Amino acid sequence: EASSSDDFQTLLSWADKHRRLKVRANAETPEDAAKARELGAEGIGLCRTEHMFFEASRIEKMRAMILAESSEERQKYLDALLEFQRADMFELFKVMDGLPVTIRLLDPPLHEFLPHDEEDMRALAKSVGKPVETVRAIAEDLAEVNPMLGFRGCRLSIVYPEITEMQVRAIMSAAADAVEQGFKPKPEIMIPLVVNVREIRLISEIIDRGVQAVLRERLVSVPYKVGTMMETPRATLGADRLAPEVEFMSFGTNDLTQMTYGFSRDDAGKFITSYIEKKLVDADPFVTLDQRAVGRLMEMAITESRRVKKGIKYGICGEHGGDPRSIRFCHNLGLDYVSCSPFRVPIARIAAAQAHVEASKDD
Ligand code: PEP
Ligand code: MG
Repeated sequence: EASSSDDFQTLLSWADKHRRLKVRANAETPEDAAKARELGAEGIGLCRTEHMFFEASRIEKMRAMILAESSEERQKYLDALLEFQRADMFELFKVMDGLPVTIRLLDPPLHEFLPHDEEDMRALAKSVGKPVETVRAIAEDLAEVNPMLGFRGCRLSIVYPEITEMQVRAIMSAAADAVEQGFKPKPEIMIPLVVNVREIRLISEIIDRGVQAVLRERLVSVPYKVGTMMETPRATLGADRLAPEVEFMSFGTNDLTQMTYGFSRDDAGKFITSYIEKKLVDADPFVTLDQRAVGRLMEMAITESRRVKKGIKYGICGEHGGDPRSIRFCHNLGLDYVSCSPFRVPIARIAAAQAHVEASKDD
């Protein structure tokens, strides 16, 4: 007799036959990536590289790098971080052999890496070998009133191009290692929190130079893409200007919702329940994509960018990428893929099929 798990597998294979949207996963550890692949993910749609540096042995170097007082000092820590990054990326390429792996350049809300309290400050000073006063002064200097709208995303690459140089070298060295071992890595390098085309041009130059250097040294060829996150209203409004410079656009609907509403994604919990109860919003906009606002920005961005360039791949990697109602909307918008947490991949496969079947009925 068939078990419910067999029934579920049958449902999933039906879903795969009837969907057009690809389903990728948000993952940065080999374990999550393997889980995602097992659950049917067709690649990684978002690898948040800043998460790869949270582990104890790494975070100290990351924090030291952020607190560096000179570019020589910063480079010393970047060299150490490069080895971690390279080893991590190699594992992801192995697990996702033959499938795209979208690697987002560092997008650290800086406060997550700064000392939290006095005790932490002392421990950090000790570990970087600096007087506590020095560390305190640097930390105070870097502290932001509004970190989520502050020195984040590509702004970091603009001010410290050496961080991007390190990441690109690590990604491509790992890809070259993977090729030499018979794997087919497909890196897609993604620029976070873009607001205008000049940021993309500046950072793409760094990326392309870094990629070419590694490929020349290693005498291998690796197909790679460069694309952008679409997560600020300004990026979506200027999508026609961004289009010529990118091969893919991925909607970061967490930040896009935050910036469209002016609701803090970290603090909205304090009032959103009342908003839902009083019917001031249809649903929590951080869970279900607001089609009339964020959705319209996405639609405009797709229409406008397509007008100037064909062949761009469109995806979504905010939390909405795993929400069935939002997935239906993404299907109707004509996105190429959704990317969600590994455990949501099966739900997303089914939702994508339902959306396709529903939309075909309307024809
Ligand atoms: C987003 O903003 O939707 C996104 C995917 O990036 P993050 O959640 O890491 O800011
Ligand atoms: Mg974001």
